Amino acid sequence: MDCLFCKIASGDIPARKFYEDDQVIAFHDIGPQAPVHFLVIPKRHIPTLTDLTEADKALVGHIAYTAQRLAMEQGCDQGFRLVMNCNEQGGQTVFHIHMHVLGQRQMHWPPG
Ligand code: AMP
Ligand code: ZN
Repeated sequence: MDCLFCKIASGDIPARKFYEDDQVIAFHDIGPQAPVHFLVIPKRHIPTLTDLTEADKALVGHIAYTAQRLAMEQGCDQGFRLVMNCNEQGGQTVFHIHMHVLGQRQMHWPPG
């Protein structure tokens, strides 16, 4: 499968991976938008949020739980932002679902 994040998950393409378990991996974003900016992705290929099924509910919970736990480990105890972009208008550019974790700077609302 020609998917960048599947290749990062399998190790075929290098990334600054710093967490892995049986379901997800986390690695630093190549174009950081904050002092802390990493991605939590499922190892399994799911193109976008609208491809999720009932059976994936626990996986998404695990992604969010892992994101917050790693955010705290990265020193984001003052706060952080979780983002999941969905499809073109939602700003998604890599079609393998991922949760952005941004922290260590003040966030603003609304986002662009
Ligand atoms: P999105 O626009 O929500 O699909 O986010 C995709 C993210 O993946 C962007 O923030 C990119 O900077 C990041 N990205 C793209 N290629 C890589 C890579 N090889 N390693 C790490 N992050 C990447
Ligand atoms: Zn994939």
